Amino acid sequence: MIAELICVGTELLMGQIVNTDAQYIARSLAPSGIDMYHQVVVGDNPGRLTEAVQTALSRADVVLFSGGLGPTDDDLTKETVSAALGKELILFEDEWEKIQSYFRSRNRAIAPNNKKQAMFPKDAIILPNPNGTAPGCILEKDGKAAILMPGPPRELFPMFHDYVMPYLLKKSGHKLYSREVRIFGVGESDVAYRLDDLFKNQTNPTIAPYCKTGEVTLRVTARCQTDEEGKSIVSPVLDQIKKRLGDVVYDTDGHELAEVCHRALIASGKTLAVAESCTGGRLADAFICYPGSSAYFIEGDVTYSNDAKMRRLGVKAETLDTVGAVSEECAREMAEGARAAAHADYALSTTGYAGPDGGEPDKPVGTVFVALASADGTVVKRLTLFGDRDRIRHTATLHALDLLRRKLCTNEA
Ligand code: ATP
Ligand code: MG
Repeated sequence: MIAELICVGTELLMGQIVNTDAQYIARSLAPSGIDMYHQVVVGDNPGRLTEAVQTALSRADVVLFSGGLGPTDDDLTKETVSAALGKELILFEDEWEKIQSYFRSRNRAIAPNNKKQAMFPKDAIILPNPNGTAPGCILEKDGKAAILMPGPPRELFPMFHDYVMPYLLKKSGHKLYSREVRIFGVGESDVAYRLDDLFKNQTNPTIAPYCKTGEVTLRVTARCQTDEEGKSIVSPVLDQIKKRLGDVVYDTDGHELAEVCHRALIASGKTLAVAESCTGGRLADAFICYPGSSAYFIEGDVTYSNDAKMRRLGVKAETLDTVGAVSEECAREMAEGARAAAHADYALSTTGYAGPDGGEPDKPVGTVFVALASADGTVVKRLTLFGDRDRIRHTATLHALDLLRRKLCTNEA
C-alpha cells in the first residue's frame, strides 16, 4: 500500500515552523510496510492544493493531510479535498454539539465560523479530537482514502496514533508487533556503532532508537499477521542485540530500571535501605512509587548536611574533614551506616555536586559517588555527570539503581 503526505500551511513553506507532523507520521509508518514515496508541502491556496490532491490520488492509495482544519478562512483543506473528491459538505449536528460544549467547558465564546469545523461529506468517518476543536476525518472513494488531520502536533500525534494508524494497518492487512530494549550505561552512539550492521540491514523488523534522559531505548518492530509471528520475527533480533551489548541491556519487557530492581528485590526476599545526599529522596521514591515495595524497603535517609551524615549514618568526622562529603569514603560510610542502622541486606547511597555552583578543582559539578553495601562488601562508583541540576540528580539516581540491578540480576556489582 502506498501513502502520500500533504502538509498544508504557508507557515511551513516560509520556514516559520518545523514540519514535525511529517517527521512523526513518516517515523510511525516506517515499520508498517506502508510505503511513502512522496511528501508534499503546499501553502494555504486552493488551486495549488487541488493540484497536489489530484497528483497524490493518481499515485497513492491513501493520502494523509495535516493542517488547515481550523475555523478561519485560510483553513481550506477539508473544503478543497472534498471538492476534489466530488463530495458536498453537510453539517454533522452531533459534532457541532461537541464543538460547542468544548468551548462552553473552557468558558470561551464560540464564533459562527466554528460551525465549519462540524461540516463533513455525509459518508465521512469522523476522527475525534480530544485535544482541540477540529475533528479529523477519513473520506473514502473508489478504494482510495483521504485522511484529514489538524495541524497542531499535540492534536495530530494522538489522532494519528489512536485512529489513523489502526485504520491504515487494517486497510493494508498488516499488524505491528514491537518490543523495547532498555539500555543503561552506554551512549546512543556507542549502541549505534555496535549494532551498525543491524541498523543498516533492517527491513523487518525495524530498529529505531529513542533517547530518554540518561538512557537509550531501542524499539524493535515487526510487520506481521499475528502476534505469534511478530514474536518469532523480533526474538532473534532481541537475542542478537543482547549478545552484542551484554549486560547494559536491563530489560526487554517494558520495565523501567527501578522496576527491574523492585521486581528482583521482591523475588530475592532481600531488604533495602537508602541514604541520599544529592538525590534528595529521588532514590527512595524510585522504589516506593511501585506498589508492594513495603516487602523490601525498610527506610531512606536524606542526609544533606555533614552533621546529619555523622549523626544518622555514622559517617566519620575525620572523613568529612579530610576528603569531604563528596568522596568515595563518604559514599561508602553512608551506605554501610544505612545498612547497619536498618539491618538491611542492601543499602544504596549517593553523594555529589549537582550544581550549578560549588564543586572543587578535582571534583567539579557533576562529580557524584554512588555506593552499594551488601554482605559481600561495599562497591563505590565515581561518576562524572553532565547537564543541569535536575539532570545530574536524575542520572545519579539511575546509576545507583544500576549498581543494585547488576548485583541482583548479574551478581557482578
Ligand atoms: P487550527 O485549528 O489551530 O487553525 P489547523 O488544522 O487549521 O489548526 P493550521 O492552521 O494549518 O492547522 O496550523 C495550526 C498550527 O499547527 C500552526 O501554527 C503550527 O503551530 C502547527 N502546525 C501546522 N502544521 C504543522 C506541521 N506540519 N508540523 C508541525 N506543526 C504544524
Ligand atoms: Mg488553522
